[in-house]
Amino acid sequence: MKTNAHSALDASALLAPSRIQRRDPGDHDVRIEILFCGVCHSDVHTVRNEWHGTTYPCVPGHEIIGRVAKVGAKVGKFKEGDIAGVGCLVDSCRTCASCMANLEQFCEAGAIFTYNSPDKHSGGVTYGGYSESIVVDEAFVLTVPRNLDHAGAAPLLCAGITTYSPLKHNNVSKGQKVGVVGLGGLGHMAVKIAKALGAHVVVFTTSLNKVEDALRLGADEVVHSKDEAAMKKHLNSCHFILDTVAGKHDINAYLVLLRRDGTLTQVGVPSEPLAVDVSNLIFGRRNFSGSLIGGLKETQEMLDFCGAHNITSDIELIPIQKVNEAYDRLVKGDVKYRFVIDMASLKQASALA
Ligand code: NAP
Ligand code: ZN
Ligand code: ZN
Repeated sequence: MKTNAHSALDASALLAPSRIQRRDPGDHDVRIEILFCGVCHSDVHTVRNEWHGTTYPCVPGHEIIGRVAKVGAKVGKFKEGDIAGVGCLVDSCRTCASCMANLEQFCEAGAIFTYNSPDKHSGGVTYGGYSESIVVDEAFVLTVPRNLDHAGAAPLLCAGITTYSPLKHNNVSKGQKVGVVGLGGLGHMAVKIAKALGAHVVVFTTSLNKVEDALRLGADEVVHSKDEAAMKKHLNSCHFILDTVAGKHDINAYLVLLRRDGTLTQVGVPSEPLAVDVSNLIFGRRNFSGSLIGGLKETQEMLDFCGAHNITSDIELIPIQKVNEAYDRLVKGDVKYRFVIDMASLKQASALA
């Protein structure tokens, strides 16, 4: 069936209304009418081809919450009317060592991401959540805790899991000092989740106007990262630092804040390489690592954790007609703290057309 969407035709184009094909649900598929879709900075990097791998037309969106509209004959986990989530992954080989270890994001045959990945069904590329509906194998569809606000829960599907996974992998626990670099979509989720894990959270921000918010979100301390004296106070003190910064920045300024054997995990993906002064790793035996979203099992675990702790994203709800403006504002750091598209706006616009 054809469904309404917003897509970009090339790297310089704005997102514009389009119609895309969705397959009929197969035996194991779920068709989801999309209610809300978050706007991740990765959407902007991809639409603007900043990572040099975008196939056009591109329909971004991987923070999807919707209502199940149809299920295939063999679907067991969902029924019509359920609220369901889809994150960054829609398929993988399911047999390689990574898939068997519930780490589908590292599938050795190539994970199938929600958009801009090869689509074995259509022969083209996958199209994401800036659309009225999506069809996904139930193995890649998540159950959303009933107590969570639907729009606020959408960003958990990427920003939530991308921050939860490295915090868990690095055994962040009660009393540890955890730094969060960059207070954007990912950063503000990291603050909420690290706090719920019992950590002492320090936010490092380039934006003085976010200090009050950081404290309200749960940070114990906030540091203006351009203030050298304030940065110095945290030398050699952090057990773990999560760096969510989307652009070029000096990683060494944060590596030196790690205590012995501490780890800095990079989740932000600047389009240019970051220069690491290796002496900052050698002295103190510090670790510098990366992390990519999370597998399906851990994504469900994260949703359940957020349900139990009543954690959702702080959002600005926008109609899809404002999405290009939202991209420009996101790049300027002008969002508190995640744009979420109300997909009713797409339905209304197409009904009027
Ligand atoms: P975002 O909302 O734009 O947040 C990024 C924050 O980084 C900004 O709010 C800003 O916080 C800080 N920042 C400092 N210097 C910056 C600079 N030169 N350019 C841009 N930001 C700067 O973005 P997001 O959606 O959280 O995504 C952050 C990054 O993570 C993106 O690169 C995205 O592609 C990537 N990502 C990675 C994964 C993964 O699996 N690894 C998953 C999702 C997204 P302050 O104002 O507080 O300094
Ligand atoms: Zn994302
Ligand atoms: Zn695999």
